[in-house]
Amino acid sequence: MEYPKYFRLLNGYSVLKKRALIISFFFPVLLILAVCDRPCSFKWPGQTKAAVCLSYDDALISHLEIAAPHLDQYGFKGTFFCTANSEAFTGRSEDWITLAERGHELANHTIFHPCRKIKAGRDTLDWILPEYDLNYYTVSQLMKELRNTNELLQRLDGKKRRTFAYPCSDHQAGGQSYIDSLASICSAARAEGPIPQDLSELNLFLMPAIDASGKSGAELIQLAEQAKKHGTILTYIFHGVGGDYLEVSDTAHLELLDYLAHHPKDFWVGTFMEITDYLRDHGK
Ligand SMILES: [Zn+2]
Repeated sequence: MEYPKYFRLLNGYSVLKKRALIISFFFPVLLILAVCDRPCSFKWPGQTKAAVCLSYDDALISHLEIAAPHLDQYGFKGTFFCTANSEAFTGRSEDWITLAERGHELANHTIFHPCRKIKAGRDTLDWILPEYDLNYYTVSQLMKELRNTNELLQRLDGKKRRTFAYPCSDHQAGGQSYIDSLASICSAARAEGPIPQDLSELNLFLMPAIDASGKSGAELIQLAEQAKKHGTILTYIFHGVGGDYLEVSDTAHLELLDYLAHHPKDFWVGTFMEITDYLRDHGK
């Protein structure tokens, strides 16, 4: 029997030495197989180490006046999850049109921002009006609201595809999960949750994200570093930036953008749609 060349070269060695050499040959292969619990061929664009999405909820004045100009300054594109009934949305359509023209993503965050007023494990949301209490919506009523939001956004940017963010990260309407109903409404949905340790955990309709409110620049940067360490993704949830509510200061926001801009080999900053499309296109 003709042995492969590698084995024939071992003829002059003792049995123990042969075993040691064979193990030394196969061990790295086995190690790679053990470490790769996701396809090792997966790479973020440009060989970056993590994807970062900067997302802004509720269509606020500070998004138009502070956050978006900051993003433009660094050439980053943000994702603006718009509540179509927000005063800054209905009253400043032209500004949202130009924001979209500058490459930022307009995304769906409902019309009326319905949330579950009472939910186990969470303080009662006293600011939710009875007519917008998700506990008393039906799934079909909510889907109609989401389709209408898509139509309103389409009038601004002409686009048909949308991503979505769950208001208050609530996934149930009238006691029923609406996650499975979203496929006809959006391409991906943002929820809340810790930075994933592995991309194989991800569900594109329940993408984890971290609330940025009240965090300093250093704390925001630390989160990006965590995502880099895991090689995964971080989506920031911003509300007010330098104003409005649940705010981060404009300084903290700028510090984060500046850090990301100075580490282009580490972080791919993309819109929520770009990043989730990339994940889908690469088998996630
Ligand atoms: Zn919201």
